[in-house]
Amino acid sequence: MTKLYLAIPCYNEEEVLWDSAEKLLDKYNDLMNAHKISEDSRIVFIDDGSQDATWEIIENLHSQTPIFQGIKLSRNRGHQNALLAGLMTLKDKADAVISIDADLQDDINAIDKMLEEYEKGCDVVYGVRSKRETDTFFKRFTAEGFYKILNKMGAKVIFNHADFRLMSRRALRAFSQYKETNIFLRGMVPMIGYRSAIVKYERAERLAGESKYPLKKMLALAWEGVTSLSIQPIRMITWLGLFIFLVSLIMIIYSVISFFVGATVSGWTSTLCSIWALGGLQLLAIGIIGEYIGKIYLETKRRPRFIIERYLSDN
Ligand code: UDP
Ligand code: MG
Repeated sequence: MTKLYLAIPCYNEEEVLWDSAEKLLDKYNDLMNAHKISEDSRIVFIDDGSQDATWEIIENLHSQTPIFQGIKLSRNRGHQNALLAGLMTLKDKADAVISIDADLQDDINAIDKMLEEYEKGCDVVYGVRSKRETDTFFKRFTAEGFYKILNKMGAKVIFNHADFRLMSRRALRAFSQYKETNIFLRGMVPMIGYRSAIVKYERAERLAGESKYPLKKMLALAWEGVTSLSIQPIRMITWLGLFIFLVSLIMIIYSVISFFVGATVSGWTSTLCSIWALGGLQLLAIGIIGEYIGKIYLETKRRPRFIIERYLSDN
């Protein structure tokens, strides 16, 4: 029987947490009664520095039954870091950890299939959305475009897979060796290797409350995905630089010939164009390179990626 831990990052989720906890506990009991998970399995909430009553609810749940555990981060560090905190805390306790969002938009019934794949010997099982009917057109369009761009940029991500996945203890231990600060979990997990599988499910609407991922955070995540996984943008600049250099060689030959032919007074337009074009391009290039230098700067600091303030646990 599998000792399963569920890791659930929560940020200001007081509106859904009671509901979610109840549903998760039902699922837990079903799985237990079906002898699919062992009785020392746990449901662990990671409070990502919420300002509302989220932590009080978690404490309350923990006092009701030790099946619920809580990890409190010292402040808001974002979804990816909260999830990482959970995974790294639980990696030596569980046989397998499944991560899922607190709003239960991801279908918890997919957990059964994930466990089956795990029993068959898979170390990573990705939950993949089959449809996005409940998402707004805008969210669907931006999200699917995001996966496509990422893959074009050379970062291998699983299409339509967010952070609903099962990882075995072996996979988590391997993952703990990735010490970087800029993390984009769904792009990093495939790097581990091992056998993996996909489980499809339909994504529902949020149980209650509002999305904690406004457009700004979504764009930040997308940018993080590209720049922390791939050096393709820098390579593109190199190719662009080479191309422009070749064009400028032709331009030099052209202007020298023009000089000897004696038609050099005009040319104001081309001068102005090249000043603008090159100036703009250089700025863009410097900006993108700066982005990577910024990352190197952060990596060299080796700051802790999260700090756990408390861990409510019975074991
Ligand atoms: N979340 C978090 N820290 C944050 C923002 C979000 O831990 O700073 C959690 C949130 O509580 C939820 C998950 O990340 O469990 C996904 O957020 P949400 O459901 O709001 O995103 P969406 O489904 O709208 O993309
Ligand atoms: Mg959600």
